[in-house]
Amino acid sequence: MPPRIDLRSDTVTQPTPAMREAMARARVGDDVFGEDPTVNELEALAASIFGKEAGLLVTSGTQGNLVCLLAHCNRGDEVIMGHDSHTYNYEQVGSAVLGGIAPRIVPNQPDGTLRLEDIEAAIMPDNVHFGVSRLVSLENTHNRRGGAFLTPDYTQAVADLAHRHGLKLHIDGARIFNAAVAQKADVKALTRDADSVTFCLSKGLSAPVGSVVVGSEAFIARARRMRKVLGGGMRQAGVIAAAGIVALTEMVDRLAEDHANARLLAEGLARLPGVEPEPVHTNIVYFRVDHPRYTAPALQDALQARGVGVLALGPDRIRAVTHYGIETGDIEETLDILEALL
Ligand SMILES: *Cc1c(COP(=O)(O)O)cnc(C)c1O
Repeated sequence: MPPRIDLRSDTVTQPTPAMREAMARARVGDDVFGEDPTVNELEALAASIFGKEAGLLVTSGTQGNLVCLLAHCNRGDEVIMGHDSHTYNYEQVGSAVLGGIAPRIVPNQPDGTLRLEDIEAAIMPDNVHFGVSRLVSLENTHNRRGGAFLTPDYTQAVADLAHRHGLKLHIDGARIFNAAVAQKADVKALTRDADSVTFCLSKGLSAPVGSVVVGSEAFIARARRMRKVLGGGMRQAGVIAAAGIVALTEMVDRLAEDHANARLLAEGLARLPGVEPEPVHTNIVYFRVDHPRYTAPALQDALQARGVGVLALGPDRIRAVTHYGIETGDIEETLDILEALL
């Protein structure tokens, strides 16, 4: 049974009534033949929102990032990415497993950025001893950096640096709409010169399944081949895409509510003994646990027993994520339960 107040992740979001209805009504066809009108509509909509030429529906964010790395790189190529990135830590480094592509790790700063000088130093010169630097991968918002967002200026600077050295830029934008809403920016400005972007429909945007990759026509054609070899050719996928269209048209602006609830949670935590929230940027709240009776796992279990789900990450750190379905009242109740425990 999932917890009554489920703050473990924004992946637990249920499809909205409008999504259920759109899924039931969706016109569908064989998408491997390019004949699913609803998938085609979603892919075109995503491309236009990001100002790119084409889009590709994929099964998950993990598949989206993998498809992009495989489409950008050859065997023996290197991808520069953050040591705390999702792609390095939580995707089994699939690009190395399946593509012979090596990650070259540079440190993530507290704000989720990679320093430009670190990126530049990680670009290998043309030398028979070295792998070939092909791609830089950024993450916006940054999962393990408390949902920190990258700015348009920073992203542009990385794109310019990468392109100056003949590398491409990929953005793992699983939560890029949170980044856009938080800084009242257009996602186009956050991804302007990126060569590929992956974003998730199934997190804060609340669709039941799927992510989308966007990029140039030529890039998406290669990505479509990679999706097929990974088993991601999905036939009548319009039932999934229909929910994705609702996600993109109806569920973006409300992310501001999740950010407000995350701030409310952090402010409440700051007033309680034995817990210390980290800075909140979007919909992710990390807090330290330093309490005589509770480690982070013990506090997670105590909350679970009272109907509140959070994730302990290590002995003294907990993550809570706000999303569609979590109301202000749920945050207040969570804080009341924590106050009683602590
Ligand atoms: C969730 C997430 C992904 C992967 O998404 P899945 O759909 O779970 O495979 C990739 N990158 C980041 C930053 C994420 O938070």
